[in-house]
Amino acid sequence: MIRMQGVQKWYGKFQVLTDIDLAVAPGERIVVCGPSGSGKSTLIRCINGLETVQQGSIVVDGIDLTAHRRNVDKVRAEVGMVFQQFNLFPHLTILQNCTLAPMRTRGIGRQEAEATAMKYLERVRIPEQANKYPSQLSGGQQQRVAIARALCMTPRIMLFDEPTSALDPEMVKEVLDTMIGLAEEGMTMLVVTHEMGFARSVADRVIFMAEGRIVEQAPPERFFTAPQHEKTRQFLGQIL
Ligand code: ADP
Ligand code: MG
Repeated sequence: MIRMQGVQKWYGKFQVLTDIDLAVAPGERIVVCGPSGSGKSTLIRCINGLETVQQGSIVVDGIDLTAHRRNVDKVRAEVGMVFQQFNLFPHLTILQNCTLAPMRTRGIGRQEAEATAMKYLERVRIPEQANKYPSQLSGGQQQRVAIARALCMTPRIMLFDEPTSALDPEMVKEVLDTMIGLAEEGMTMLVVTHEMGFARSVADRVIFMAEGRIVEQAPPERFFTAPQHEKTRQFLGQIL
């Protein structure tokens, strides 16, 4: 579903990604962790073309992002993204947040777009909030709307960048539960998170990044019980 090969990326003179090779199979659930500044956000932003790379190739569901700039739109149509800061449109209702992109970019009619939006708002268990504005919702509810909004585009892959980091502790679980539901339905997922409980129970593979490199990757049992690299051990020692 995703194949990155020999990816190198610089911000000016600073190399942010070095020798990235990563293959993700359909339905696979990957957790990406690592210290702040290690390139996790940059890595997943590259997968939906929010960032360009200078070397290497990135192929998403058979579409080569690095071959043609035009392919970026095709890839974005297949990849949903959820950010730490929700990024909902404050001036639109929850329902409008969910129908905007399908109507604008897919040419879907209002009725159908609203029916789809309600289906996903039910799925994230907040259909009753449809006519409110984002500021009237809790952080956890807003993040669930962000997930529903991404699902309205019927993505084949979902990317999450620290989706629970901005939430009050009591709201983390409701968002993680929504993500667990998605995982159980077989969605291909790449999740940057330090929620190691989530990694343990949901991930097929945990990837550890440091200084722009994938230092280690392993199934969660092995990752947590027998980390191979000193940097991984240090990191786990700090967060567990
Ligand atoms: P992480 O998500 O692991 O915290 P990031 O991918 O956000 O890491 O950032 C990796 C490194 O790249 C950091 O040192 C950060 O300061 C730098 N960086 C991120 N975005 C930019 C940018 N747009 N321009 C220059 N440097 C950036
Ligand atoms: Mg980040």
